[in-house]
Amino acid sequence: MSEERVDVTVVGAGPVGLVLAAELALSGAKVQVLERLTEPDEAVKAGAINVPTAEALDRRGLRPAAEQVQRAALGQVGSFARLVEKPDGPRFTGHFAGMVLDADLVDWSDPDLAAHTAVDGARLVPQRELEALLAEHVARLGVPVRRSVEVTSLEDTGAGVLVGTTAGPVRTAWLVGCDGGHSAVRRLAGIDFPGTAPELTGRLAVADIVDPEKLADGWAWSAAGAYRCGPQPGRVTTVEFDGGPVDRAAPVTLEEVQGSLRRVSGTDVTLTALRGTATRWTDNSRQAATYRSGRVFLAGDAAHVHPPFGGQGLNLGVGDAMNLGWKLGAVIAGWAPDGLLTTYDAERRPLGAWVLDWTRAQIGVLRGDPKSAALRTVVADLLATPDGATHAVKKISGVTQRLDLPGDHPLIGRYAPDVRLSDGSRLADHTHSGGFVLLDRTPDGAFSRLAAPWSTRVTTVPDAPATPTGLLLRPDGVVAWATDVPDPAGLAPVLHDWAGAPSPDHAPVG
Ligand SMILES: Cc1cc2nc3c(=O)[nH]c(=O)nc-3n(C[C@H](O)[C@H](O)[C@H](O)COP(=O)(O)OP(=O)(O)OC[C@H]3O[C@@H](n4cnc5c(N)ncnc54)[C@H](O)[C@@H]3O)c2cc1C
Repeated sequence: MSEERVDVTVVGAGPVGLVLAAELALSGAKVQVLERLTEPDEAVKAGAINVPTAEALDRRGLRPAAEQVQRAALGQVGSFARLVEKPDGPRFTGHFAGMVLDADLVDWSDPDLAAHTAVDGARLVPQRELEALLAEHVARLGVPVRRSVEVTSLEDTGAGVLVGTTAGPVRTAWLVGCDGGHSAVRRLAGIDFPGTAPELTGRLAVADIVDPEKLADGWAWSAAGAYRCGPQPGRVTTVEFDGGPVDRAAPVTLEEVQGSLRRVSGTDVTLTALRGTATRWTDNSRQAATYRSGRVFLAGDAAHVHPPFGGQGLNLGVGDAMNLGWKLGAVIAGWAPDGLLTTYDAERRPLGAWVLDWTRAQIGVLRGDPKSAALRTVVADLLATPDGATHAVKKISGVTQRLDLPGDHPLIGRYAPDVRLSDGSRLADHTHSGGFVLLDRTPDGAFSRLAAPWSTRVTTVPDAPATPTGLLLRPDGVVAWATDVPDPAGLAPVLHDWAGAPSPDHAPVG
């Protein structure tokens, strides 16, 4: 291994490590990814992505590739396709503890939902396809992904990090552990991982089933646990409240999946083969005590683990990576305002805590005991109302995520809505290079003039007068400033706070 010094070493080429590496490369940092696996992981995991993840792809020009994946996936999912395909486009709802939300009950005109429909065609992106798409993105950006390299030790010297690997030592200014739930980086950095212990074993496999007619279509519950068939043919999920697996590292065999499916379904269903690598998981729910220790950061499953119910984990991690990437890049480039890096933990931790609780709540209604079953009926009744379904879909899709940023405008702290411009382009089309973007709809370009001293970091996008009149997007797509009037009040301080000091060759702005 070359001992050439790099700015950032990302440990783990899962979806989170790849997104982070790409964001750092876009910011100009010299970054490398170390991955212990020789080939990408073939295990069956996430089946789809939420709105913020799809929008993150959109903002980097990857929406067409994601749409292509969805088109191919829709062709394979049978009844699920009928569920999401509506006359005016696909509609994703998701589920809460296996209770699939009825798209016909959801109020799709709700302002939060209606503001984020541009990526509806790019949501059914399974994790393996997402990782392949991201690997190509990272390769185009020239980031080396060094496979068969396992991180085994680290020493934070204060000026950098000395990393021990199975391929020799690495010197790096910063280290980010995107190395999954069993994170070696988290352990080596001495970061605590408090939370709640597992009480169940879940299994996910795609299998050849001799007699699928013996199984229910969709989710089904029993005193022994729960199971689900679909949405793809042969895809089987089982949940058993058995205290968690004895040996999590053992490969998941055909016999194990069949035994579990027989127990939870109460049938003698027969499986003849597994297609791809089956996975075993638990409801172990933990969050790192800190997302940063000196020059070491954590992102993705390394920072938080929870059961995969309702499809949140991958999306939470991609959000971490989008948030950290530009901030660390700004520090490396030398223009970061004071305290920018501390906002990573402050902004991402509350969302991580919410996801842990959202998934814990689902375990509460999934248990086979009579009290949990009664609670499930109550929750099911609520989710079968228009308000209940709309609320749950907004939460699951991520459209209501909001950071606690200063400012009164309702868009501040939210991911940018889909904005169509008078020239036919979309605001997201102007975000591919990863910097700040300022939408200026003043008749005289007042916002653009004010932001000119930040022109190396802020791209201004002029547009015909409309509402909102101005939006400042951070590189991660979060709205840092917004206004509905042609008055730049508050814009200069916000630019200082997020985009740092203006270029010295510009006259100071009053
Ligand atoms: C059955 C199942 C279903 C799921 N369904 C969903 C879903 O529907 N929606 C959703 O959002 N999420 C879902 N998830 C969760 C999602 O898969 C994870 O949250 C996601 O993979 C986390 O990505 P990551 O990049 O943080 O970690 P990982 O994907 O775990 O990647 C970590 C990488 O680090 C590497 N690594 C580990 N240690 C080292 C080391 N010491 N040195 C070098 N490399 C190392 C690993 O080999 C791996 O490639 C599901 C998970 C499971 C198991």
